[in-house]
Amino acid sequence: MQFSKLKLNGFKSFVDPTDLIIADGLTGVVGPNGCGKSNLLEALRWVMGETRPKAMRGGGMEDVIFAGTATRPARNFAEVSLTIDNSDRLAPSGFNDSDTLDVVRRITRDAGSAFKANTKDVRARDIQMLFADASTGSHSPALVRQGQIAELINAKPKARRRILEEAAGISGLYQRRHEAELK
Ligand code: ATP
Ligand code: MG
Repeated sequence: MQFSKLKLNGFKSFVDPTDLIIADGLTGVVGPNGCGKSNLLEALRWVMGETRPKAMRGGGMEDVIFAGTATRPARNFAEVSLTIDNSDRLAPSGFNDSDTLDVVRRITRDAGSAFKANTKDVRARDIQMLFADASTGSHSPALVRQGQIAELINAKPKARRRILEEAAGISGLYQRRHEAELK
């Protein structure tokens, strides 16, 4: 599984539809302060099922919707779509019936957010599990936020353990055990 494209529409500062091709190998994002580099990383985390507005530097989840500027009105929705190359057919079962997997998350003001996988409606939890099992989840140590290195150094043992579990690819199992215990 490899990310091949990220599309943003109305997400934070990306008010106009924006397509980013993610090529093989290392990708660098460069630009002046405030141009939207961190917003891109947040879009990636958001489409993978991030539920904490704070991780998006917002007070509520609707803060990811383009809020308007002096010259442009605010938008009513934000949409992020992530295309995954699944030609190696390594996607978890339920998501593994084609060579590409398109995951879309859309949030509409006052109507919450919804997910689709290859145009089918899916639950947030299915998407979170998909990426947790693939060890790329929204809490993945592969995505290092600005300031996160300092947080890691100062983390309490429990928080550090969570990071290790995600890196080991067992956080999906951990979540399922937690759900089983609740039943
Ligand atoms: P730095 O180099 O300082 O880390 P950056 O490239 O990471 O900067 P971001 O933090 O991604 O920049 O982008 C910040 C910009 O995004 C700000 O100009 C902010 O106003 C804008 N922004 C954030 N949320 C929204 C929103 N909901 N609507 C419109 N603009 C937004
Ligand atoms: Mg930044």
